[in-house]
Amino acid sequence: MAKYTVKFVKGDYTARQEAANALKAVAYVEHHFNSGPSTAGYVSVVVGSNASQTSKNWGRWYAQAIGNAFGVKLYQPDGVVVGGFGGRGDGNLKYTRMPALLLEPLFCSNPLHAGWIRSAQGQQRLAEVLADSIRRFFPDGGTIAFSVGHKYKTSSPKDRGAEVFGGGMEADYAELVLKAAQALLEGEPAAALDQVKIRRGDALLQAIDVDPDTELRWDPVTKTLYL
Ligand SMILES: [Zn+2]
Repeated sequence: MAKYTVKFVKGDYTARQEAANALKAVAYVEHHFNSGPSTAGYVSVVVGSNASQTSKNWGRWYAQAIGNAFGVKLYQPDGVVVGGFGGRGDGNLKYTRMPALLLEPLFCSNPLHAGWIRSAQGQQRLAEVLADSIRRFFPDGGTIAFSVGHKYKTSSPKDRGAEVFGGGMEADYAELVLKAAQALLEGEPAAALDQVKIRRGDALLQAIDVDPDTELRWDPVTKTLYL
């Protein structure tokens, strides 16, 4: 049996958090994409004003991993925004009784980012980082609550968030990423938690299982990675 069960929580944001509490979810993720001027492009992760250290560490790890996967810089200093941008986003998280993140990994309004958001490979890479982060911070498994930002609100059923450059809406792409992460979490066996991966762009060339405590050493002279 899979270690993780993913539940999509719907309704207004407070109701979603209460639903996750009732499910005794071990982690909560609300997925958005950011939007602003076309040149804006950074990773940010909101945690609640009452966030636990686990939420902050998980958010930092996710932001760093997205930054590395896409070559995108972090909202300074470490990608994590406690209590939201001027309070925006806090109400989406602060009623949860488990570690919770509001993800804004890329910008809908940035043409380069929008290309990633609209592509199946980009969505898969976002899903892989999210699933990896959940396996790392919640290794015992459990119920994971996913919330698609904007979509399925009782009070505003037509909200889909921001327009994505080139076509489509923020919430629909966020939902595709969360569905892909669900497939990764529910489909994969619990073993092989740590892998060293070799990639060229979006293509995964090789994945090698390693012990979680393996110290990797890269020799730039001989271009050799020692496991
Ligand atoms: Zn949004």
